[in-house]
This record gives sequence, structure tokens and C-alpha cells, in this order.
Amino acid sequence: MTEIVWPGGARLAVSIVVNVEEGSEMTIADGDKKPEPVDELGVALGIPIRNFVNESNYQYGIRAGAGRVLDLLEEYQLETTFTAAALALERAPDMTARIVQQGHEVCSHGWRWIHQFSYDEERERDFIRKAAQSIEQTTGTRPAGWLSRYLHTERTRRLLVEEGYRYHMDDLSDDLPRWEDVAMADGTARPLICVPYALDTNDMKMWTAPSYTPDQWLAYATNSFDWLLDEARRKGPRMLSVGLHLRIIGRPGRIWALKRLLDHVTGKPDIWITSRRAIAETFAEQHPWREPG
Ligand SMILES: [Zn+2]
Repeated sequence: MTEIVWPGGARLAVSIVVNVEEGSEMTIADGDKKPEPVDELGVALGIPIRNFVNESNYQYGIRAGAGRVLDLLEEYQLETTFTAAALALERAPDMTARIVQQGHEVCSHGWRWIHQFSYDEERERDFIRKAAQSIEQTTGTRPAGWLSRYLHTERTRRLLVEEGYRYHMDDLSDDLPRWEDVAMADGTARPLICVPYALDTNDMKMWTAPSYTPDQWLAYATNSFDWLLDEARRKGPRMLSVGLHLRIIGRPGRIWALKRLLDHVTGKPDIWITSRRAIAETFAEQHPWREPG
């Protein structure tokens, strides 16, 4: 396994990922053929009708949830990664300003929160490019990272390299970053950093029916942290990803679980809570990419 030394001799890097998708989900108002499924009820309508109530359930994340999440991150003075669908940022300028002002990294979660994997190459490239341009405009910084919704295609990584992205996180295979050799159209290989993500510790587990209770989620995330920290102390540095969503963790019945998790994780000497971009670049500095062959 790759040996990485985190800054300050930390053993465990903790990446908190806040997904911002609300306002960019599927709706016929934006030209989609069907509305966003109601995950909390397990209902998916396959007909072209607006689901106004479900749209408002998403809007809760922006109106009420974002403030709670950003307050906590400010209180604990954490640097995190916001994986944002570009359009969601465009539609919530006050929230976006606060994300930037608090110094969080903004990683691209696509132009919208939709199924880009069904696109042909030209359309997928346009989607990836538009996302970067929009995020650069709303936040002032071009995104270095990429997260697809659900799936990526055989060519997504090549398109990311061609469009200047530095890392991707469509991967659940490890507790450490690594290089990926991406085959380009001319047969050469170019580097992309893979910073694996995790679904098991994700607050999505409290959203889709049937779901974890907040207590179960907190116990799972805390146990993951304790185990990885112990392993990192014995066997070498590791990273832990915790994925969150404004509309999910931002509810009053769930936000307390994040506070408890932060109480548990912060204040330990060998923990580095940081952005994914910082994790990716720390890895890349210590393990320069070598061309295969
Ligand atoms: Zn997402």
C-alpha cells in the first residue's frame, strides 16, 4: 500500500464532502422527461409531471439546511470539499458566497445533478466543460476534482484529463488516493489522481427508504473513524471520507449527529481534516507520476 505522510505527521486524513445538488435535480421545468424520484418514500414517477412538493423538499437543503451545515463547519473551523452541481450554485448565490468565504474547496459534481452517463461523447464533454466554467464563474476558482452522479462512462476520465481536471472521485475501492493512467485518444497515457469516495458512511443512508436512523449513522461513521485511525497508527496513513447532503444532514433531526461526529473527530493530534484537493496534491507531491511502460 502507498505510504503517504500527511502534514504535521497526521495519521488519518478526514475528508468531509458536502454535496450541493438541490435546484439542479431532474424536473420537467428544466427539460427532463420525468421528475426526480422521491427517495425518502421510494417512489419514482415515470411520467412527465412536475412534483412540486418533492422540488420543495430539495429546496429545504438550500433554504434551511445549508445554514446549519455551514454554521457547524464554521464553529469547528473545518476545511472541507463541497461537491456541487454547477447550476445549484448559480441558483443559490448567497449560499455560494458563504462557501467561498469560509474557504472550502468546490469540486465539480457536474453541470446539473442528472444522468450524464447516457450522453454521447460531444455532449458529455460539453457537460464537463460547462460545469468547470460555471463553477469558476460562481466561486472564482476552477474546480480540480470531479464526481459523477451514479455512473461514469468509459471515456469520462479521458474527458476530465482533456478538460484540465486533476482528480476524480468516482471510485469506492480504497482508503488512500492513487494515480490512474488514463489512455488518451492518441494512445499515450496521462495522469489523473483517484481520490476514492465512500457510500457506507454517507448521510444518504438516512435518506433512501428504508434508512439508517441518525443514531445508527453516527455509530457507523464513528466506528469507521476509530477503526481507520487505529489502523493508520499501526500500519501507515489512511483517509476517511464522510459524504453529506444539505437536504439530508441539514434537517434538525439529523444535524445533531454531525455535531456529535465532529466532537468525536476534532481535537485529536494525528487527524488532518482537509479538502480532497489538498489530499490529492499531498499524495502527488510525494509520489510523482511516472509514465507507464
Ligand atoms: Zn451526489
